Amino acid sequence: METDYSAALEVAVRHATEWLEGRRDRRIPPRAGVEELMRTFGGELSAQPVAARRVLDFLGRNAQPGLMDMQSGRFFGWVVGGTLPVALGADWLTSAWDQNTTLRSATPATAALEAVAAQWLLDLFGLPRDAHAGFVTGATMANFTGLAAARHHVLAERGWNLSEQGLAGAPPVRVLAGAERHDTVDLALRYLGLGRPTPVDADAQGRIRIDALSEALDEAGDRPIIVCLQAGNMHSGAFDSFAEAIAVAHARGAWVHVDGAFGLWAAASPRLRHLVRGVDAADSWATDAHKTLNVPYDCGVAIVSRRSAMQSAMGMNSSYLIDPARDDEPLDPLAAVPELSRRARGVPVWAALRALGRDGVAAQVDGLAGHARALARGIASLPGAEILNDVVFTQVSAAFEDDARTAAVTEALLAAGTTWMSGSRWHDRTVVRVSVSNWSTDDGDVAASLDAMRLALEATG
Ligand SMILES: *Cc1c(COP(=O)(O)O)cnc(C)c1O
Repeated sequence: METDYSAALEVAVRHATEWLEGRRDRRIPPRAGVEELMRTFGGELSAQPVAARRVLDFLGRNAQPGLMDMQSGRFFGWVVGGTLPVALGADWLTSAWDQNTTLRSATPATAALEAVAAQWLLDLFGLPRDAHAGFVTGATMANFTGLAAARHHVLAERGWNLSEQGLAGAPPVRVLAGAERHDTVDLALRYLGLGRPTPVDADAQGRIRIDALSEALDEAGDRPIIVCLQAGNMHSGAFDSFAEAIAVAHARGAWVHVDGAFGLWAAASPRLRHLVRGVDAADSWATDAHKTLNVPYDCGVAIVSRRSAMQSAMGMNSSYLIDPARDDEPLDPLAAVPELSRRARGVPVWAALRALGRDGVAAQVDGLAGHARALARGIASLPGAEILNDVVFTQVSAAFEDDARTAAVTEALLAAGTTWMSGSRWHDRTVVRVSVSNWSTDDGDVAASLDAMRLALEATG
């Protein structure tokens, strides 16, 4: 076995730099498929060791054909951020330090960096400064964490101790969520044994309807209730009316959780902050750092207003956890996330925020939204094109004439490979969906992407 770190890291840096610097000129889709790549990387596991340098060189060269260029400024698929250089550097240091960030007393540097990153996020989002944040793998687990705290709290209010008594026989919890919630809300509720939420009607942009929410709350009667709201609809980018929705939910004693995977970042922009007006009154929030902030995967943030709810849902008290935080100290990292052992994934968040500063974060968010508007304007000017949503944030859903034409245009666009946008279905129509989430997207990327779309349209006409 090789024992020299610098020889291994030098090879890694060389391949990483080459990959990142090539992103302007490359076609976006992968050229090789999984079967072919498994043949490249596979075969019998050799009995003999191979030098780290050689393994990394082989890896760097042979993975490339199978990489989707998600770092490209012309990648608009799903909701996928790129990586800021400073965040990537911090991520590498995080791996090199290899701090198992569970207890404040054991890994003070990474615990401090995460605590500061959490404070900065609460400040940027305008959330209560005494809320508690945990760094999780993404918004799925952030939804899980927030909803787990919610479940604990609404049952504790009925005198039911979930930690001791479990869910069987507990007062039935009613979960209400907008009809256009993200599927990961259902997934998190499934992990939690809460079943499918009761869907609440949404309006034309996908926002929960307040009258429908009031009715659903009435129907829930005096059951323990959790309401899930959304900041940033996948198709329209729309935001629920938080002030109104939270007021009616709280009037019925409900816990309010907000899935703000990418939309919560609107709060960091003075121009867009109006979209999340009132969101600070909720009880828990989920967001991603690997989308809008552009840190590497995987990084999401779970935020819970009540310490006791977060700690009872996520904390542990084993005897081998020496020197845990006292009640008058901030939570240990392990008490705010589902995992025990984990990397210090909040460190790249600290680095990104430190490098951008408050104005830089706002400019980045404004830039994404501005490019989304430019793409929407450009697409709208193409023959037969229709923009189906009000472009309030980073998401655009477009259609061409009919479903078949939209599907054909999307297919031709992806085959050409200059730009990458997701096909989807929204409100019973086939759409091509644009999500501007990459910090490096510029006017040239927008122009090149619109040209590619014009060509795809002509090719399918
Ligand atoms: C991406 C997304 C999620 C899931 O987040 P992951 O980071 O993929 O776990 C949840 N909700 C919304 C609105 C999203 O856009």
